[in-house]
Amino acid sequence: MLENIEYTLKQYFGHDAFLMGQREIIQQVLCGHDAFVLMPTGAGKSLVYQFSSLLMPGLTIVISPLIALMQDQVDRLQANGIAATFINSSLSSNERLERERAALNGQLKLLYVAPERLLTLSCLSLLDEVRKRVGLSLLAVDEAHCVSEWGHDFRPEYRLLGHLRDRYPSVPMLALTATATERVRDDILIQLKLQDPYIHIASFNRPNLYYEVRQKHRGSYQELLQLLRSQSDSPIIIYCQSRKGVDELSEALKQDGINVLPYHAGLTSEQRTEHQTRFMRDDVSVLAATVAFGMGIGKPDVRAVIHYDMPKSLEGYYQESGRSGRDGLRAQCIFFYQYGDRTKLEFTIVQKTDEQERRIARQQLQQVVDYAESVVCRRRVLLAYFGEEYQQEDCGNCDNCLRPTAMEDRTIEAQKFVSCVSRTQQRFGMRHIVDILRGANTQKIRDLNHDQLTTYGIGKDLSVDAWMHFGRSLLQQGLLSQTDDGYPVLKLNQLSREILRRQRNVEVPAIPVHQQKTSDTVPSRISALEPEEMGLFHHLRILRKRLADAQSVAPFVVFHDSTLLAMTQQRPQSKEQFAKIPGVGVSKLDAYLTPFTDAIRDYCELHNLAMGLKPEPQKMEAASASRVNGSSPTRLLTLELYKQGRNIREMAKERNLSP
Ligand code: ADP
Ligand code: ZN
Repeated sequence: MLENIEYTLKQYFGHDAFLMGQREIIQQVLCGHDAFVLMPTGAGKSLVYQFSSLLMPGLTIVISPLIALMQDQVDRLQANGIAATFINSSLSSNERLERERAALNGQLKLLYVAPERLLTLSCLSLLDEVRKRVGLSLLAVDEAHCVSEWGHDFRPEYRLLGHLRDRYPSVPMLALTATATERVRDDILIQLKLQDPYIHIASFNRPNLYYEVRQKHRGSYQELLQLLRSQSDSPIIIYCQSRKGVDELSEALKQDGINVLPYHAGLTSEQRTEHQTRFMRDDVSVLAATVAFGMGIGKPDVRAVIHYDMPKSLEGYYQESGRSGRDGLRAQCIFFYQYGDRTKLEFTIVQKTDEQERRIARQQLQQVVDYAESVVCRRRVLLAYFGEEYQQEDCGNCDNCLRPTAMEDRTIEAQKFVSCVSRTQQRFGMRHIVDILRGANTQKIRDLNHDQLTTYGIGKDLSVDAWMHFGRSLLQQGLLSQTDDGYPVLKLNQLSREILRRQRNVEVPAIPVHQQKTSDTVPSRISALEPEEMGLFHHLRILRKRLADAQSVAPFVVFHDSTLLAMTQQRPQSKEQFAKIPGVGVSKLDAYLTPFTDAIRDYCELHNLAMGLKPEPQKMEAASASRVNGSSPTRLLTLELYKQGRNIREMAKERNLSP
């Protein structure tokens, strides 16, 4: 059975090799073991149970929390010729009966069910009957973190899924999630009663994502606009904190000619569904949303996630920004940061009644600030949050690694700051210290006679913001400490004392100026295409959209961008060449061979492009990282030779390849 698994992978999914971890998990499941899978979004979790179901007799049940997600996955499976369907509250009773009958007759491989439905008596007796007649092969619990109150998407119905483990002890259960904290992890194992599970924990690094933080200021809207315009039609999500923010931003963008729709909990559910569908189907390229948009959105080709406001936690930021680039091609995660935005969130924190909750929320917010103001690799900071140490010095794919922030000597300011903390007996928070340094005339200062201190007014040359920023960099570098029980108070530590004794020089990142740090072009393989190839790529996208609309599915159900990219580069003409394109499985080969090869031929003849080129040998089974390689030098050589007007035979000879 296992010898043929690569063949089955190509046949049904069009992939040439497994991604990291997939094969091992599948093997365990096929041997009947329970498994727990923790992988970041886009690492290929769904494939694990979808693929396993094909190799096992009987029916696989997939428990999934969201109707939209089910629909989406089922569409894709059916497009690949796999018998899958779902049962949820959106069906009429006739439709439901028909699907149940198909399950009982062994005509289905995968059945998606919402948890609240699964645990009804009628559904349980359906499962009993299925088990008797055709067998239950696997219970897959997707988004398994919903089982935990400690996670961010707790669903009480998930709590009951442990009953399934008791009811069908011999059927393997597979729990999958992209939420990583240890507490949630432990909760999943316990609540679902997994038996001695095989545990797979993947790295949370997403090498194809580019991270950047920009200072938010008055000109940021123009920057955003420029960014969107430079990304012509690529799917982009913009997150804002509030519904009002979403409405205002989408209205402004619309005025400026951007094809955008809003999404938030204030819209009716019909509107939300409509806006989501139009985004999924590429009818609209930009979605401005609150965090109400997100979980389970399987759109693989989102090219950028922009946070126009501050996220509540780093975990939230990781998950939200992680909705870009699921297809493994490059994507951008850009965060417009302004320290002041924190106050809006603090306002909601203050309203929490539980002291513990308030404390956690404050800490989470502080971690976001630390991330935004950090001058080290963003990836390192994000991964550290998940308890993972990033080994490389320089990730080469974040703003701080690509354009390191200049450091300035600020020893004098540090001495002023630390000495002010010392002279006030380490009993105050940062804002009060800054007020003293700036010689402010506040009630608190007058009451405490702090205007008598020698440090009073010695820092008038810097603004409040600049001092606050400076104070935070001292904290970040560990040059000063801060208590974190409720009201944060500054404390001296060993290093602060060295500063006081003039034994230590201090360098901090230059105070950020309002200036764009990066170029606006997407660093993706797509943008690395030659202009004519770019034209072909768009030509194929238009065809894809037409074919998708005719079937009322999202364009990525027809083919992913990565598949179109490979077609653009290889320009297949024969059935054999077309079958070799990654993402072309057996059922898509038959369905799409003619329209795509015709479109490629028409375009290439018109623009004088060579056709039927060889794919680059590419090693797929590394991490998903291998999916982001840029054009290889040898491909560039081909291009060079081609530009010199050499024919295919000559190019092949030059490169030691067969024509
Ligand atoms: P997750 O559920 O972990 O978020 P998905 O299962 O949606 O991830 O997969 C993410 C992307 O990776 C999808 O576009 C999928 O087609 C692709 N993918 C999955 N497995 C493979 C593979 N073995 N080779 C190439 N691409 C893959
Ligand atoms: Zn980096």
